[in-house]
Amino acid sequence: MYDFLADGYRYRKLSVELKKKYGERVQRLPLNAGFTCPNRENGKPGCFFCDETGSGFTTFAGITIKEQIQLMKERYRKKGIKKFIAYFQNYTNTYAPLEILEQTYVQALDEDVVQLDIATRPDCINEEILEMLKRISQRYNISVSLDMGLQTANYHTLVKINRGHTLAEYINAVLMVKKFGFEIVSHVILNLPGDNMLDVIESAKILSALRVDGVKIHSLYIVEGSMFGEMYKRNQLEICSLETYVDRVVRFLENLSPRITIHRLVADPPTTGTLFGNWGKSKLEIVNMIERKLEDDDTYQGKRAKVI
Ligand code: SF4
Repeated sequence: MYDFLADGYRYRKLSVELKKKYGERVQRLPLNAGFTCPNRENGKPGCFFCDETGSGFTTFAGITIKEQIQLMKERYRKKGIKKFIAYFQNYTNTYAPLEILEQTYVQALDEDVVQLDIATRPDCINEEILEMLKRISQRYNISVSLDMGLQTANYHTLVKINRGHTLAEYINAVLMVKKFGFEIVSHVILNLPGDNMLDVIESAKILSALRVDGVKIHSLYIVEGSMFGEMYKRNQLEICSLETYVDRVVRFLENLSPRITIHRLVADPPTTGTLFGNWGKSKLEIVNMIERKLEDDDTYQGKRAKVI
């Protein structure tokens, strides 16, 4: 019996795992360090679902990382939260000279920040950066986690959505990060146009085999200013139904190793500029539908996992 089942859950929930790790509620603070992305600069269109915010929600402009942290900490302290994760979210947060990266990460650290999360891409991580992160982790006694999107194991879809990396390159980057002992969190979008249930299940198996530590499951949303946005307006995009999405999430979880922590079950579309998002439902409504289906099907994370 898996520990999360004994706790009354059908999947390994992030909030529960963080509480076990840090002994209390921990809040993630999304930061915008003003970096760019090699897949978007010099007129490149970027991943087809990405807009000019670099797939992040943080809009802080012209204020330092320290100021961003202080602003958000004050807001959450009123709710009684005392520990925080500094999350470099927008764009590619390892895409800058080494000294700049180090100075930027260190700015986010203070006595209340217990973890550094850095979102990046497989082609923007190397041993030099990982060595520097190791030094920071040891010097400041802080956990480091890398967020790296795979989106889908279907390497044909990766080309079609202009990810700018292949499946093999993703695997190589994950193995490099694991060698340094950092946590790695993968992102998947389970309803990319052209993907089917086979791709969803294979994505779960690949991430399980790679021993990633966490997965963020997203539903595709379409934003103004993205390539998908243009296609959507021209009626060139087929998006699966909500019922199909819920079914895919349940099958993904069944085939995913029970060791892996689930950071989210559905995307959180931005409040402005969204052309299509979550079938007009709230995030909570979709999470409830997924949890209900897990119960109705009497299934759970890892039930059918062959790669544990
Ligand atoms: S890697 Fe991230 S920031 Fe870069 S184009 Fe893709 S989604 Fe946008």
